[in-house]
Amino acid sequence: MQGSLSVATTTALPVARGALVCAPDKCAVNLLDLDRRGMEAFFVGLGEKPFRANQVLPWIHRLGVVDFDDMTNLSKALRARLRDIAHITPPTVLSHQEAADGTHKWSLRLGDGQAIETVYIPESERATLCVSSQVGCPLKCAFCSTGTQGFNRNLTVAEIIGQLWVVRRSLGDDPQGGFRAISNVVVMGMGEPLLNFDNVVAAMDLMLDDLAYGLSWRHVTLSTAGVVPALDRLREVSPVNLAVSLHATDDVLRDELVPINRKYPLDELYAACRRYVAADGKIRATGSSHRRITFEYVMLDGVNDSRNHAQSLVRWLRGMPSKVNLIPFNPFPETHYRRSPQERIDRFRQILLDAGIVTITRKARGEDIDAACGQLVGRVTKRLRAASAIEFRLPQGE
Ligand code: SF4
Repeated sequence: MQGSLSVATTTALPVARGALVCAPDKCAVNLLDLDRRGMEAFFVGLGEKPFRANQVLPWIHRLGVVDFDDMTNLSKALRARLRDIAHITPPTVLSHQEAADGTHKWSLRLGDGQAIETVYIPESERATLCVSSQVGCPLKCAFCSTGTQGFNRNLTVAEIIGQLWVVRRSLGDDPQGGFRAISNVVVMGMGEPLLNFDNVVAAMDLMLDDLAYGLSWRHVTLSTAGVVPALDRLREVSPVNLAVSLHATDDVLRDELVPINRKYPLDELYAACRRYVAADGKIRATGSSHRRITFEYVMLDGVNDSRNHAQSLVRWLRGMPSKVNLIPFNPFPETHYRRSPQERIDRFRQILLDAGIVTITRKARGEDIDAACGQLVGRVTKRLRAASAIEFRLPQGE
């Protein structure tokens, strides 16, 4: 049953050693907001050498230190100065639930009282964290519970990277231990990450930074509904993997399922994806010879799951280095959609496989705690109008 808990716990998480290290009204800079370049600029602004960033980042991100007095490789004078002008404040934990299949979901409270959700998915060979990028989402995809919650604002860098920070501490603090370390991150939770471009890119830079989380670019994936101008920017500045929420290959149906398609229709999305897989931009620095895009396709009973739809998808993907994830629809209370029957999902997958397209059917995880794909809701207050939110947050010059 929707929302039932087979195994669930709610714990108040001790955030870390120490707490806020200065009164909020005195705190100027949250150092969780700064990637390496930002941290270097911050110290240069204080008249310090940029290498102070190399000293401070590991304390914050690797060791979870929030008290400047614990940063013993800094002088006492610098520690005292940092206490006066900065702080390290991650989101706080409202609730923590564990599903029967080992998936965990955290609800995190932000400084302004909003709440977001983040999900940890352990598997035999890896553990993936699905992080949110916005409070709610302005894109209103028809099959997505987040989209029905409305939208309030973009997350800050501290609130995005803070999800990784909090979950690492939370898992490490569990007395029973034994959790697989986070090896992969997907920016696939609440929100459209490309509408929060700068903050998401800075947070992903921290995920990849050896001084912070040190994840391989192969293990960080950004998922978009198709904000075309921002896709071109992303190609230039970040080497991470790309997933595209496709769900339909004709504009009429995609207009209904993924409304941003009305602004960036399928032809434009296809062209942007082709540009993305061309080996240029920052990808050269990684030594990779190619990119492959993952296309997400939610399986909706009687809507997009016929033989014709599968054949149309095969044609649409022709010439595109790609992989397809079929996602059995995860229902939520307000929806009129239903999950496709398993035989239809299997038939759809076989048509793609026969055409030589790597295709997997994603296993639903954490359904009993509403942690599955498309089910995250958080707490969104003071909703903005979606249209104005999109226009406001599109990359400049578009
Ligand atoms: S699927 Fe993604 S982009 Fe669409 S409404 Fe949900 S969170 Fe937003």
